[in-house]
Amino acid sequence: MTAPATVTDDLIARLSRHVAASGTETISSVEVFTGATLATLPASSVRDVADAVHAARVPQARWAELDVRERMGVFERFHKLVLDERETIADLIQAETGKARRYAFEDLIEPAITTSHYLKAAPRLLRAKARKGMMPLAIKATELRQPKGVVGIISPWNFPFALGMSDSIPALMAGNAVVLKPDSQTALSPLYGVDLLYRAGLPEGLITVVLGDGPTVGGALVDNADYVGFTGSTRTGAEVGARAAARLIGCSLELGGKNPMIVLPDANVAVAVDGAVTSAFANTGQLCMHIERIYVHESLHDSFLAKFVEATRALKLGARYDYKCDVGSLISTKQRKAVAEHVDDARAKGATVHLGGVSREDLGPAFYEPTVLTGVTPDMACFAEETFGPVVSIYPFRDEEDAIALANDTTYGLNASVYGRDLDRARRVAHRLRAGTVNVNDGHAAAYSSMDAPMGGMGSSGLGRRHGVEGLLKYTEAQNVAVQRVQVIPPPKAIPYGRYTGIMARSLRLMRKLGLR
Ligand code: NAD
Repeated sequence: MTAPATVTDDLIARLSRHVAASGTETISSVEVFTGATLATLPASSVRDVADAVHAARVPQARWAELDVRERMGVFERFHKLVLDERETIADLIQAETGKARRYAFEDLIEPAITTSHYLKAAPRLLRAKARKGMMPLAIKATELRQPKGVVGIISPWNFPFALGMSDSIPALMAGNAVVLKPDSQTALSPLYGVDLLYRAGLPEGLITVVLGDGPTVGGALVDNADYVGFTGSTRTGAEVGARAAARLIGCSLELGGKNPMIVLPDANVAVAVDGAVTSAFANTGQLCMHIERIYVHESLHDSFLAKFVEATRALKLGARYDYKCDVGSLISTKQRKAVAEHVDDARAKGATVHLGGVSREDLGPAFYEPTVLTGVTPDMACFAEETFGPVVSIYPFRDEEDAIALANDTTYGLNASVYGRDLDRARRVAHRLRAGTVNVNDGHAAAYSSMDAPMGGMGSSGLGRRHGVEGLLKYTEAQNVAVQRVQVIPPPKAIPYGRYTGIMARSLRLMRKLGLR
């Protein structure tokens, strides 16, 4: 296995120009499959972050003046560029994350789907809308959607291209500028996305990247931006939310999960096993919506477990820059150790490890085998805490009520899944799950890829939503411009106020009767 030839000094120099950094500090990333240095990029200071937000204000004001349709041309071209350059982007994503190439493809295809969705939806959603005035004919209200200004996007390492780009694009479409802070381990692919936006014709200065230590550089972004779109862990999300609240700016927080799947007694076991294996081990289990808990009806439990273990054993694990492997590496040896700690803790406290539970340093420094556990109990860390790795626990349940209670027994509420042949019953169960997305007869992709519908978390999985109407309008301020065409406020001076109250009461009664108000 050799590193792709894509990451050249010329490319790194070109991408570095999108980083706001005035000093000589640098950050380095590694090629995850080998641990060798991949790229050294400039690091931003707190001052650089403040300057980047300040500098974005002039181009933002010009951008916001354009009609939304004029802005859309950039994204039409960006969509094409992402699809045309998919192999280069996949190389960058794989090199800096170590994920299997099929998930690098999912990582890069996501912004193309998001862009395509909002290319269609944004002009309608951002259009000025006539609203009913207080007095029909006399007052005309219009709802406008004004951009927030400069939006800070803070993104994690697990889907660096998707989360960096897909949260920035609706913000830009809405007339904002963006300052993007990706994770330092995975800055190359979002920087490449920024480069593609400029190649697509985005006016200079509308998106800038800041790089460096999370609390320092990310914190400075929260201190300066007009709105923050954050994706990451629940712990950091709570800090970002508190810091944003102190400045009275809005934020959306897309956080962690401990996502359950329920396999109802009438489920097609083969179909459920297929979906469960995909959703448990997709992106080496480093996917916020991936399944970490599977509840199987007791009548199916043993056959499901046997088939699930067999299907997991068939997954091909490896470090390859092609589509021949199903599962890649974890992001880092730190992450591998954190995952191993969860499994070792469960094993030591009596859980059964049916498969996996071992590091595979023979394949690369951060590889860990897909792991299947049963007998997991509340005293084990992996019972309730997010593992964020290729580890899944399988439990039996008695009846529907039991399954719902078990699935909802978490502080998280990001994603859930229900398998069953009777769709009415599966839907009924889905409606009672406390999760922002629920997939029936799928693990996670059905809900995530339905861009017209919202995606996000309940409980400690977050605040706000991406995708759908909210995924665009959260980057705007609603403004109501009300025009009084006939002077009805305040009451005419010639009428004493006491008499006016009677006239007003009669008018309100009439308007109620006529359905006007
Ligand atoms: P993290 O919270 O450690 O880091 C996320 C980002 O925040 C990084 O860019 C980091 O540098 C920055 N950061 C760190 N501390 C900060 C601070 N104090 N202020 C501002 N920014 C700060 O998360 P991670 O470990 O990189 O990502 C994994 C987590 O993200 C998992 O919990 C996963 O479930 C979650 N996630 C959620 C979604 C979703 O859509 N809900 C998507 C992907 C990942």
